Amino acid sequence: MKKGLWVVRNILEGPESIREMADIAIKNNFEELFVQVRGRGETFYKSTIDPLDPAVKGKDFDPLAYLLDLLAGEPIKIHAWINTLFTWSGDQEPWSDRHVIRRHPEWVMHNYHGVSLNDYTQQQLTESGIYEGQYLCPANRGVREYLLAIYSEVVRQYKVNGIHFDFVRYPNPEVCYCPGCRIQAKKDLGFDPLKVDQFSPEQQSAWNKWRQQRVTALVRGVYQAVKGIDRNMVVSAAVYPDFDDASTWRLQDWPEWDREEIIDLLVPMAYTDDQQKLIAWLESYRQKEWKSQLLIGLGAYKIDSNQLIEQIKICRNQGYDGYVIFDYSTLLRDKKYFSKINEIE
Ligand SMILES: [Zn+2]
Repeated sequence: MKKGLWVVRNILEGPESIREMADIAIKNNFEELFVQVRGRGETFYKSTIDPLDPAVKGKDFDPLAYLLDLLAGEPIKIHAWINTLFTWSGDQEPWSDRHVIRRHPEWVMHNYHGVSLNDYTQQQLTESGIYEGQYLCPANRGVREYLLAIYSEVVRQYKVNGIHFDFVRYPNPEVCYCPGCRIQAKKDLGFDPLKVDQFSPEQQSAWNKWRQQRVTALVRGVYQAVKGIDRNMVVSAAVYPDFDDASTWRLQDWPEWDREEIIDLLVPMAYTDDQQKLIAWLESYRQKEWKSQLLIGLGAYKIDSNQLIEQIKICRNQGYDGYVIFDYSTLLRDKKYFSKINEIE
């Protein structure tokens, strides 16, 4: 089975933690590393578009280049994990005036009151229980071009094996009612989404579909751009594990990406401490024929090392090609994870 690992961006802050991670990945035979090089509109590589994340130690240090150098020649594939639409959180403004939220506050999603998510404090967003922070509107042409440029830049400048979408979705169905979306949706659907008839399942479903298509169009655009630069580049995405939840609540119709062949690798984030739930998800995926590869995302942070091993065995028994563990830092806290993973091979 393929062994993969998500590496959250704090590991990329300086050379020591990157070296330690690279050593551990090599020693434990991980084959796929999904390394977060863009968090909230700030990067862990040298970008001409976005500012460097202020957590990076030294403004001349390029974490992604450093990692790629360390792992050159090793049988490990590096996927540049890029947060897509989720772009900022917290009450402070981004430090850099180059940050996209500061350059284009108008690109941020609006909710069904017609209010930009920018106009809420982080506390209000968090208390709502449905927003982690600010998301960009995927229907906005400027946003699409901006994101395409980011993915293209990484693929052009770095010898990565793939790019990895995360947060390529809406936070919930109560956004995006920005002025641009209202005008365009009215043209396409014949009604203003702010005035959608709550009792009309047809209107509701048309409005959901319209938004799903905006996300799909973004994935398609990036896929085509990236493949145009390097057709061997692997395009992958972390997606919501439950089909209904993904399509209805996140407007993320990932089976459609597979049908259209605009994705190479899908990683459903099947994070749970309930083995029956995991089995049900895995069985739901097996009901479909997939053109892309499926690796199963396992949430180590929710379970102990014994449960993780059980989940890996469940994936194996169901015939899956491999798994990706979320995340490296969790495994680091308890070395038993590594020894037990190695035992079962
Ligand atoms: Zn919008």
